[in-house]
This record gives sequence, C-alpha cells and structure tokens, in this order.
Amino acid sequence: MPTGPGDVLQLIRRGEATTRGEVLDATGLSRMTVAQRIDALLACGLVTEGPVGEATGGRRPRSLRFNAEHAVSLVATMDTTHARVAITDLSGRILDHDEVEVSVEAGPDQTLDTIVSGIQGLLARAEVPLARVCGTGISVPGPIDPGTGRPSQPPIMPGWDAYPITDHLQGALPGVPVLVANDADAAAFGEYTDGFPTSRALCLVKVSTGIGTGIVIDGTAYRGTDGGAGDIGHVRLREESDAMCQCGARGCLAAVASGRAVAARLTELGHPARSGRDVGALLAQGNPEAARLTQEAGRLIGEVMATVVCVLNPEVVVVGGALASAPLLAGMRETLYRLSLPRATRHLSLQLGRLGEDAPVVGLTRMVVDQEFSAEAVNARLSR
Ligand SMILES: [Zn+2]
Repeated sequence: MPTGPGDVLQLIRRGEATTRGEVLDATGLSRMTVAQRIDALLACGLVTEGPVGEATGGRRPRSLRFNAEHAVSLVATMDTTHARVAITDLSGRILDHDEVEVSVEAGPDQTLDTIVSGIQGLLARAEVPLARVCGTGISVPGPIDPGTGRPSQPPIMPGWDAYPITDHLQGALPGVPVLVANDADAAAFGEYTDGFPTSRALCLVKVSTGIGTGIVIDGTAYRGTDGGAGDIGHVRLREESDAMCQCGARGCLAAVASGRAVAARLTELGHPARSGRDVGALLAQGNPEAARLTQEAGRLIGEVMATVVCVLNPEVVVVGGALASAPLLAGMRETLYRLSLPRATRHLSLQLGRLGEDAPVVGLTRMVVDQEFSAEAVNARLSR
C-alpha cells in the first residue's frame, strides 16, 4: 500500500482513520513516519487536529479532520433556462450563491460568458481571491465524453457537441482546474455523498425539462464508454408515436414524460408553462392538472426505470429535478414495482432527493475535491 501524506489524507477524508493511532493501524507505518505525514498535512492546512470526546488511559487522543476551509470550490449548475453559480467550502457547504438566466439553445459562447460573469460577480462580492479557489465544477444537461470532458452529441444542447467548455472557463479563470459533468451524474453524486455514503449502487432520475439518470457504483459516478450511461430520456418508449422529441426522433420517453412535454400539455390546457421549472412552480402551487400530468409522466418513467432497476439492482433510486414531487413519485411507484422482478426491488428504496437543487452543487464540489485532493495530487504537491 502506498503511504505518502496524500494516502494518509484519503484515510482521514473518508473517515477511515480519525486519530494518529488509527492511521498507525491502517497503514502499518512506523510511529515516526505517521507523525511526519500528519505534520506535513497539518503544516499546509489540509488537516486539522482537535480534541475528541473520550480519553483512553492517560492521554487523550486527538481527532484528525480534513479541513473543509482549506480552500473553496466554484460550482455552476446549468439547466436549459437558468444556471446557479456558487462558492462552496470543500465539504460542499454553500458559502454564497447566485442565479443567472441562460438559454442553452443560444449556444455555448453566450451561455458560458453569462455563467462566467455570474461567477466573477460572486467572487467579487465574497471577496475571494482566485488563489483560494482549488477548482471549478460545471454540470450541463447533456452527456459528457469521459475521455475529452466535452459534450458528446447532447440531444437538447444545439451547438454544444464537442465544445471545449474547460478551455472557455479557464480563459476567464486562469490557473483554476475545471471539471465538467453531466447534471444527473452530479446530482446523483451529491445525494450519494450527503445521504447514502455507504450505498454500493445508487441511481438518481432527474426529471426537469429533460430526463436523465446518474449512476453511482461503489463510490464512483459511472459514465459509460462514451458518457451516455443513464441517458434514458431517449429510450424509445412507443414504437408508433407522433410525439416528436427534441432529439429528432419520435416516441422517446422525453417526448411524452419530460418537463418539456408536461409543460406543453399544460399550456394547451390554459396553464402557460415553458420549462420543467415552470411545471415545478405549478406543482408547488397545488395545480391539479400539473399534478395529474406529472403523475402520468411518472408512470411512463417508471416503465423505463423498471429495466434500469433490473440491470443495476440499486439500493436507492432517488428522484430529483424540477418535477420531483409526490405525484411523480406515486406514478413511478405504480409501474416500477409492477414491472420489476421482486428480487430486484426487494431492498430498493424509491424516494425523493433530500438536497433538491443543491444536489449537483454538493456532487460537483465532491468531484472537484476528489480530483484536486486525490492521494497522487497531494503527494505530488507536497513533494515539490
Ligand atoms: Zn429523444
């Protein structure tokens, strides 16, 4: 086992070792080496040491914690009509945030410029110098190629295919590493980090203007060969359907059950709505038509999720996005359990997300921290 200071930091970050004695046991290093490693982590402020409750014998062991105030992370979560920008500490706690209007259909240049101004405004307001920022995470409503970090034929983001989002943001935030993720992946990772850190398989369904899932397996967001894993919105649900999807095909799940589809039906019924967010607002007002159509959408989503559940056998399916609500959950419950094998759902918990729109913020922060404070990254930094 590699046992540099970065490796010791991982044990502390994961809560696997919280005292010097536990680091000793977990690593098998000598007492002196452990002291050196921890001193190095304390000296650069990555770890703090404080008293713990219980004294064992004469000396009170002191508890080691990853220092969430060591730096800050910048986060932008982008949806089709708006984006949230936030400054977080390294635990994902939001220190300040703001919202900007964007139109994903206006293309990457204009959208990312708006997000950058939002971030810069936030940095100025919070008086945070760029040197304190360890990284930026941005989530987008489309698949991201794991190899290039660029959008990979995103169905609802015209003009974004293979666009270098990282380069664009780094041009405005020099020296700050940028990480790009799919929105459902980021939200799934946030819910996993916050509520289900021991779950071996978690799946989040995001139902907003579009529909997608994020999958976390053994603590890692699973993205698939081309970043397309979990993109269930364009599963062909009905062979013969005249419902035209934004991706150009007919009969996709998103064409009949997404926030966009529900918004269109509501508009026809005299309740003007344009996006998943507008549907969410009508649901929050208790609009009965919105509730009925959302429950109907939930039934269709449950049909596709039954297959997902049979493939992954997850412990938790979390429902997130603007349409996440009791009617959506009720609709999903009706079809998902009926169409799945009992073995696949015996231990399944189907529930609404606990973090709401903070889920991708927490998830992106964790992704940035995992990357920038990995064992290798910290060992390399401290050996300089
Ligand atoms: Zn489609």
